[in-house]
Amino acid sequence: MSFSDLGLSEEVLKAVSDAGYSDPTPIQKSAIPHVLMGRDILGCAQTGTGKTASFTLPMIDILASGRARARMPRTLILEPTRELAAQVAENFDTYGKYNKLTKALIIGGTSMDEQTRVLDKGVDVLIATPGRLLDLFDRGGMLLNDVKILVIDEADRMLDMGFIPDVEKIVSLLNKIRQTLFFSATMPPEIKRLADAFLINPKEITVARPATTSKNIEQHLVMIPHTNKRDLSGLQKAKRDALRQIIGQETVKNALIFCNRKRDVEIVHKSLQKHGYNSATLHGDMSQPARMETMAKFKADEIALLVCSDVAARGLDIDDLSHVFNFDVPMHAEDYVHRIGRTGRAGKTGRSFTLAWREDEKLLDAINKITGDEIPLVKLRGSSMTTFDIVVLSAP
Ligand code: AMP
Repeated sequence: MSFSDLGLSEEVLKAVSDAGYSDPTPIQKSAIPHVLMGRDILGCAQTGTGKTASFTLPMIDILASGRARARMPRTLILEPTRELAAQVAENFDTYGKYNKLTKALIIGGTSMDEQTRVLDKGVDVLIATPGRLLDLFDRGGMLLNDVKILVIDEADRMLDMGFIPDVEKIVSLLNKIRQTLFFSATMPPEIKRLADAFLINPKEITVARPATTSKNIEQHLVMIPHTNKRDLSGLQKAKRDALRQIIGQETVKNALIFCNRKRDVEIVHKSLQKHGYNSATLHGDMSQPARMETMAKFKADEIALLVCSDVAARGLDIDDLSHVFNFDVPMHAEDYVHRIGRTGRAGKTGRSFTLAWREDEKLLDAINKITGDEIPLVKLRGSSMTTFDIVVLSAP
């Protein structure tokens, strides 16, 4: 099945072909015809499956007829993080380049006045994080009763981040006669309850997680030989040394370095800088303009190493990322999948290194359980970069 069999317009097909996509992904094949027919969707899929295009492409065609009215957006897309919202907005630019659609991005950390001005003119698509949308709504900046299509993306992440009450409030402000597209990587009972409340006779689509232990990603686990539970700062120091050793040995074009705590994001970044590396940070406490600027520099290869937290980096789409480093083993096994999935995308190859110590055993077991595989263990040898090398202890 090709894109032209899905019922999309010539304009959208041309934009898709310009983007270099030859075939629709499984979720696109299943969802697009149903969205075009006006049906609700319950999509169990995560980033990397092509789910964003599965709702943006048909939405562009639906929006092509009709016009936006001042302060009354025609469609609303809710995203858990600013970065995901910005990425969805980019998708509308890419796929909607042959259509004249207007959009507004309502996310925290950017000027409310500017956002209100755009809304005043009328927008076809409103892409927002829940909290900021409610702030703006409470100020009387918009009316939501003309929303014909609602997209709730990454619902399980909204739950993790405590956004569900905001999402419920927003949905209560919408007209009941609408089309709802609901996506979540997992379906815990709380998410299922919401889906039941928001959707009417949805088409249920479940796609397999993108191959995480894909042949495209060469994974490595490095056990740090630290035993003293009371000396956690010693552990972190040993990890920083190991990280530099690996970076020195590998040919790193660009890398994301994930830490579990914001504090460590700063410490690791400062340590890398002190040792002459070109690094920067990305975490949830940064202002939105600062986050956008850092991402733009990273994408333009002006920054090589980006030390980040999970929230800030979730779903980031970076072409050609050579490495992912897990400075800490993630607390949630799913996050391991998201983290390493930033590399090895679209047929490219990537390498990941996870730094762990013996107390991480339970977390590692949980990761092995969901990936269905063990991360190959490697050992660092020697302490100076010249003598350093990686010894493979268990074959992949
Ligand atoms: P998503 O799951 O929406 O985060 O998309 C993951 C990545 O796949 C993005 O980089 C998209 O640009 C890309 N993508 C989406 N649809 C296709 C397709 N049909 N063929 C190739 N790449 C795609």
